[in-house]
Amino acid sequence: MKVEIVRDDGTYSEFILRDTNPAFANAWRRAMKSHVPVLAVDYVDFYMNSSYLYDEILAHRIGLIPLKTNLDRFNLQAECVCNGEGCPSCQVSLRLNVEGPRIVYSGDFVSDDPETKPVFDNIPVIELYDGQQLMLEAVARLGFGGEHAKFQPVSVCTYRVLAGVTITESCSSCQKCIEICPKNVFSAKDGRVIVSDEFSCTLCRDCLKVCEEGAIELSETNDFLFSVESVGQMDVREVAKRALNAIRSKAEEMNSLLEEL
Ligand SMILES: [Zn+2]
Repeated sequence: MKVEIVRDDGTYSEFILRDTNPAFANAWRRAMKSHVPVLAVDYVDFYMNSSYLYDEILAHRIGLIPLKTNLDRFNLQAECVCNGEGCPSCQVSLRLNVEGPRIVYSGDFVSDDPETKPVFDNIPVIELYDGQQLMLEAVARLGFGGEHAKFQPVSVCTYRVLAGVTITESCSSCQKCIEICPKNVFSAKDGRVIVSDEFSCTLCRDCLKVCEEGAIELSETNDFLFSVESVGQMDVREVAKRALNAIRSKAEEMNSLLEEL
């Protein structure tokens, strides 16, 4: 098994996982979505809210603001020395004290921890009118995507099986496949048909309908092209690595359970 990076700019990555099976590819995809914890606001104390939104609606909006997460510094509350009561090792407070008229943005929150702050400063939270005031403390903790979507580190995490496309000796170079292929997999070179973009093939089999039998062979490979977009709490690479660690620790746990039998 190996991984080839096709494209990676931190928040969006495409990579090929080679020589594996759908079960492992899907386990990795699911682990990235729901077994890598991130920080999100889970509790809000309102000291003053004279805006037109109820506390609950505002708390929900604040919970969905993605926060930069350094997993090396925070514990899950269930595993923390404070036994889940809340301490600087497992939670961070973000304070907001604003008065209208103005639009309140995610960047207006003042965090107790300089490293833990909203990923984007320009997410609108609410518009306050003249005289309206908002004073609150929002408490963020680590959580998993399976618990709530706000704890999900990736907004897109998909894969597809790469196709194997081969042009055989029986190809008469009629070039009909070039015209019909919706993904432009084929092109012409020196009067012959060649496979110029194998990655784009979705195995729709349109080419087989116009081509003489046996000229093009399509197959599913054991390679998977992943497309992953991070919400911004951490880079895709870190999400991918931590997801693999999560799979390994679950497998080890399973092994030890089996040994006990
Ligand atoms: Zn704690």
